[in-house]
Amino acid sequence: MTSAILSAPSVSVRAPAKVNLELRVGPPRPDGFHPLATVYQAVSLFDQVTIRAGDDWSVEISGSRALGVPADETNLALRAARLLAERHDIDEPVEIFIDKEIPVAGGMAGGSADAAATLVACDWFWDLGLSKEELATVAAELGSDVPFLLHGGTALGTGRGEIITPVLTRGTYHWVFAPSDIGLSTPDVYRQFDEHNEAVGFTPPEPASSPALMAALMSGNPEQLAPVLMNDLEGSAIDLRPELEEIIVEGRHLGALAGIVSGSGPTIAFLAADHESAIDLAVGLTATGVVTDTYRATGPVPGATIRGVPRVD
Ligand code: ATP
Repeated sequence: MTSAILSAPSVSVRAPAKVNLELRVGPPRPDGFHPLATVYQAVSLFDQVTIRAGDDWSVEISGSRALGVPADETNLALRAARLLAERHDIDEPVEIFIDKEIPVAGGMAGGSADAAATLVACDWFWDLGLSKEELATVAAELGSDVPFLLHGGTALGTGRGEIITPVLTRGTYHWVFAPSDIGLSTPDVYRQFDEHNEAVGFTPPEPASSPALMAALMSGNPEQLAPVLMNDLEGSAIDLRPELEEIIVEGRHLGALAGIVSGSGPTIAFLAADHESAIDLAVGLTATGVVTDTYRATGPVPGATIRGVPRVD
């Protein structure tokens, strides 16, 4: 595959995973979506998308996390390419190759990252010259997290999460992610959230991000950030996967400053004090056997970025 890609005009774009530093969820809207106030951070765990001209539209997935990713019309990267083509009257099918490192259905927005990378790649490939704002409009139609993954860094997401406002931060944060072998469906977690609230007679307030989180991000101090990390979906993810609580407790025991469910889960995101603590935590977590695998990453990092444009032979 690689040599074929390199001998034809192609473009490669890398897009990061995200963690939600704060995820505030309101009551469901009439259209079924939940209003959110969320602070995203892009982290250094990447998928890479390569595209080249094809006789037909197609997608192929490789990499350590390829299992379970659909290689058909439902793939979000393929949907992104087709939607952008439709909007700009493009009739030039592309073949899409995804090198997948972001856990699938893990609450880290891997599918959205692939969609964001594909939009950037197709914009270059078809010479559309679209601005980030123009790409973000198409991105929002594909999914709530896709505009953020074009943007990267640290940002507030409102609406369904698709309205992005950059957030000022200092420093670099060190994360250890503990993925699960089996993903969690985002709609299932939201359903659990609604059912639980209904059962206890609780109506969530309109979501808003906390000034304490913004202040912590400005300080650049992970010790200040740790106590204000917050995820309204955490309880619902743990209801569906009680073992997640054990992973959080073990990580805290091993020195993590905080452990939270990432997005709708089931990946657990641990905030470490520094690079060395992150290494110790990752080694400790796998040694205890509560998880089979960990990833270390730092944030914030940029959003979808062109990596390589091999020469035309
Ligand atoms: P989010 O945090 O945005 O809810 P997630 O990280 O929980 O997302 P994804 O990895 O984006 O979940 O995958 C959700 C589902 O989307 C998968 O189970 C898979 O069937 C489907 N999917 C479609 N395209 C892709 C893709 N390119 N990569 C991963 N999953 C994809």
